[in-house]
Amino acid sequence: MSVLQTLRAGLADQSITASALLDAALARVTHAAPLNALITDSFSQARVRAAAVDADAHRTGTLAGLPMAHKDVFCTDGVRTTSGSKMLANFVPPYSATIVQRLEHAGAISLGKTNMDEFAMGSSTERSAFGASLNPWGNSENPLVPGGSSGGSAVLVAARALPFTTASDTGGSIRQPAAFCGVTGIKPSYGRVSRYGMIAYASSLDQAGVIAESAADCALVLQHMAGFDALDSTSVDAEVPDYLAAINAGPGKLRIGVPRMDQAGIQAGVLEAVKQALKTLEAQGHTLVDIDLKYADAAVAAYYVIAPCEASSNLSRFDGVRYGHRAENCKTLVELYERSRSEGFGPEVQRRILIGSYALSAGYFDAYYLRAQKVRRLIARAYAEAFTQVDVIATPTAPTVAFGIGSTLHDPLAQYLADVFTVGVNLVGLPAISVPCGLSGNLPVGLQLISPGFTEAKLLALAHQYQQHSDHHRMLPPGYSAFPTTAKALAS
Ligand code: GLN
Repeated sequence: MSVLQTLRAGLADQSITASALLDAALARVTHAAPLNALITDSFSQARVRAAAVDADAHRTGTLAGLPMAHKDVFCTDGVRTTSGSKMLANFVPPYSATIVQRLEHAGAISLGKTNMDEFAMGSSTERSAFGASLNPWGNSENPLVPGGSSGGSAVLVAARALPFTTASDTGGSIRQPAAFCGVTGIKPSYGRVSRYGMIAYASSLDQAGVIAESAADCALVLQHMAGFDALDSTSVDAEVPDYLAAINAGPGKLRIGVPRMDQAGIQAGVLEAVKQALKTLEAQGHTLVDIDLKYADAAVAAYYVIAPCEASSNLSRFDGVRYGHRAENCKTLVELYERSRSEGFGPEVQRRILIGSYALSAGYFDAYYLRAQKVRRLIARAYAEAFTQVDVIATPTAPTVAFGIGSTLHDPLAQYLADVFTVGVNLVGLPAISVPCGLSGNLPVGLQLISPGFTEAKLLALAHQYQQHSDHHRMLPPGYSAFPTTAKALAS
């Protein structure tokens, strides 16, 4: 049984209590504090909620009493929400994002907010105004990034401090940190999960999802996040399948497309781990098919035009007037705008705003933004064509394993290239999952599985089947122990 399934069973037969579970999670989160993964805590609210779950004997099943944390991109009523930025360092939202409300309604208990690259822009979580998070697979001699932008969310699951966290993915921010930290992360189809109350980065690409130890646990949590929301105009009104039933039924026999992977930049150890994983899938009766995914190499370029364009528009609301950081002692309105934005935004966010504003300006719009949108359409067609031949596409999640803290900080392009396998999926709005598939040089490697829009059930079923035949998702970073699931383990 998966971690969440075991915890649910224990809560249901009352062999464990929500309060004991919360205490264990709090102790583990506190122990993991040097990794700088949690930037705001809501421990006292969590204690009250755990006691309420314990007081209500009928409150079993669903997610009642399960401890978790939200990426700091989701607004939480009464709990500071910063999006990793000085701009919002003191922002306490008066409402909760739809997914926060839904998970709360299902009984999950949030311990706080997880660290992230500022406004979700980055692939390393070093771009947070609250300092970098550290990957538990690294150590003091070799500090490693956890990936990003949802680094804090991936770290807390990898360190087994929490059984699951929420995250968001605009170009890989769920999948790449999941891969770097050796955990499982799913980015659902665009429109599957409400974006209401999620601080916007690039609205046509942003999507909320979940990070957990296994696909089975992702399925359980996604069940409670997915579904139509009238408050998000891009939310899709389609029935949400029973994901647990789907993983129990299995994926059937699939055709799995494998694009050419001999591009420069993929580490040999990553390629080797992914090839082994493909063999494991083949042994389950799936058929591997070599495919040519056209325009795949143009995805990074198109993404790094479109995402900054949308960001420059979305972030124009942070002007120091209505809310957010406000510069002091300004003499004119223009000075207030300029200084509030210069002081409030970090260098990478400023770079993206400048790139986006430039690409959208009159005279350049057609050459950059419009052309990038045309490339996006070609990429969408290439995926659609591929999916006439295969059910699922498999790639590495990232070309490398976790890199060193500081190693790409002064070379933004090098870091953008880390997104080569993930950004195309967002440009097209497809669902994709990253599952741990082994180690390269003692560091985790992620296998990415991609499927047609709104077929998360198939993706989860395939990932679950793989995890029934591999142990990579149970690998622990050196010095960390599994999340406790029994009364005895919770007490120790
Ligand atoms: N690394 C990508 C970027 O910086 C993706 C980030 C994300 O998915 N939020 O834009």
